[in-house]
Amino acid sequence: MTHCPACFAQKFCRRWLVVTPDELRNPHFVIDARNFIHGRMVRHNITPGTLLDRLLNTVSLMEGDFRNGAWGKIDLPIHVFEVPDADIDAGRGAVMRESILDWVAYNFGRAWDDRVNAQLHGIGQQRFIVIASLARAIWWQDVQMWGIRAANDNDPKP
Ligand SMILES: [Zn+2]
Repeated sequence: MTHCPACFAQKFCRRWLVVTPDELRNPHFVIDARNFIHGRMVRHNITPGTLLDRLLNTVSLMEGDFRNGAWGKIDLPIHVFEVPDADIDAGRGAVMRESILDWVAYNFGRAWDDRVNAQLHGIGQQRFIVIASLARAIWWQDVQMWGIRAANDNDPKP
């Protein structure tokens, strides 16, 4: 596998790095990932209902394994997009599926302003990790500036 310049100091290509806690804590990373993925959904005509399937299908054709920050192989927790059997048994399957789709549409179905509070919590964090990690692996050459802002961005305008 070729090594990209951005990964020179790493033991593996950061293309396969699962989104880290530090990245999650960076609101600009969350906003950039949301807006990038939203842009790709628009460009490729991907609906919220097919986003995860399309990302998973694309990654399955690529050569590589997801890694944690310690270079260990790690599986993405894609079960956070599945409706638990208990909910299906209790007749809540359709409602739960709808709420998952709503979450995808809320996070990736529109463009986000840079000033919003972009904190994610609970299962939302897990879902974001899955989708953002898949998108980073797929579009690695285009996403290395996620979360990075020019140092003078916070200066008051004259
Ligand atoms: Zn690399």
